[in-house]
Amino acid sequence: MTKKVCVIGGGVAGLAVAIGLHRQGIAVEVVEKDANWSVYHVGIIVQSNFVRALDQLGIGKEAVAAGYPYNGVRFMTPAGDLIAQIPAESQVDGLPGDLGLTRPALHQVLTTRVKELGIPVKLGVTFESFTDTGDGVDVTFSDGTSGSYDLLIGCDGNYSAVRKVLWPEAAPQYTGQAVWRYNVPKPAGLEWSDIYLGVDNGFNGKSGYCPLTPTEMYIFAVIEEPGKPRFPTETLADEMKKRLAGYGGIMGEAAKHVTDPNLVVYRPLEACIMPDPWYQSRVVLIGDAAHSATPHLGQGAAMAVEDAVVLAEELGKSQPVDMALKAFMARRFERAKLVGTSSIMLGEWEMHPEQAGNPVEVTERVRQALAEPV
Ligand SMILES: Cc1cc2nc3c(=O)[nH]c(=O)nc-3n(C[C@H](O)[C@H](O)[C@H](O)COP(=O)(O)OP(=O)(O)OC[C@H]3O[C@@H](n4cnc5c(N)ncnc54)[C@H](O)[C@@H]3O)c2cc1C
Repeated sequence: MTKKVCVIGGGVAGLAVAIGLHRQGIAVEVVEKDANWSVYHVGIIVQSNFVRALDQLGIGKEAVAAGYPYNGVRFMTPAGDLIAQIPAESQVDGLPGDLGLTRPALHQVLTTRVKELGIPVKLGVTFESFTDTGDGVDVTFSDGTSGSYDLLIGCDGNYSAVRKVLWPEAAPQYTGQAVWRYNVPKPAGLEWSDIYLGVDNGFNGKSGYCPLTPTEMYIFAVIEEPGKPRFPTETLADEMKKRLAGYGGIMGEAAKHVTDPNLVVYRPLEACIMPDPWYQSRVVLIGDAAHSATPHLGQGAAMAVEDAVVLAEELGKSQPVDMALKAFMARRFERAKLVGTSSIMLGEWEMHPEQAGNPVEVTERVRQALAEPV
């Protein structure tokens, strides 16, 4: 039986699992190293399995109200002509399938519920060390306090310090691509997220956008960036515009809004998919700490919330912690691996078009697999 849990990291996975555990009657404490508990300002694309998982935590309606439901995803030529479309399919009565959200809006939904439930969150704090005692884990924190728990959950993202302690050899690897993102006004009447397959402008990649609010959308360019370059901040808008040159349709118009280098979010893509199991004794990883993929399928947040729902469910059952962790892995590993390997493969295809298969087929197949209950 699980009575008391320590969560390291107050992001998507950490807050979702804290809410799930609280709903199961398990005492939970969260430590978050960012004293400001902030997230950056761009958007996040999520699908019906994310909405369903948040609904299972009792905050599906709140997330939908904070975001912008749209019709689905379309694939376009560089000129803006339709190649194929995958309409959104809802998994929850009364709630939509595909949704665009700003990261701050999602953070607000999660933090509001955590505060309403009275879950303790220590900000500006991390762990200093932990000792697995076999039937529990003793943790010392950077604020000088300590505690004993039945389980420690590492929800500390792609560069997880918890993972580094237990699997020091595991580290995110650069995939060869980076994402450029920027928020722009949404044209009236645009109700789809569109992906424009590569244009001949000297850069190798694709671009797209996703509605976030009735008046705002975010645009992205996923580009091969050999050597993982860094750019001076003042050049970011010009660099992003170069990568968006030559697109037509809505993308071509949207690119004109990229003017402020300080509002460009540039991020080299680094992935780390851990093998089964994601736990050792009384310490388990979930979310990006366990399986950070590239954003090609827009599934990172959904995988984090699904992990949280399943782990909380299994820990809430009358079974020993090790049985709960085994059951958790059995329900989560293949699903997260499918997202991770498919996302990385799509990126490989973008970098090596001569070896590419059909990205629409892969996107559709993974969506169908993820529509199945966890
Ligand atoms: C460029 C890009 C675009 C993406 N787009 C999408 C998208 O459109 N849709 C989608 O679903 N997903 C997307 N993702 C993935 C998504 O952001 C992640 O999968 C998701 O945020 C994972 O949640 P998490 O809680 O595991 O990690 P995070 O959200 O990274 O949260 C980790 C938290 O832990 C804290 N932390 C870190 N280290 C410590 C420590 N030592 N002690 C205490 N706290 C710590 C951090 O401050 C943070 O609050 C994208 C990712 C990238 C890189």
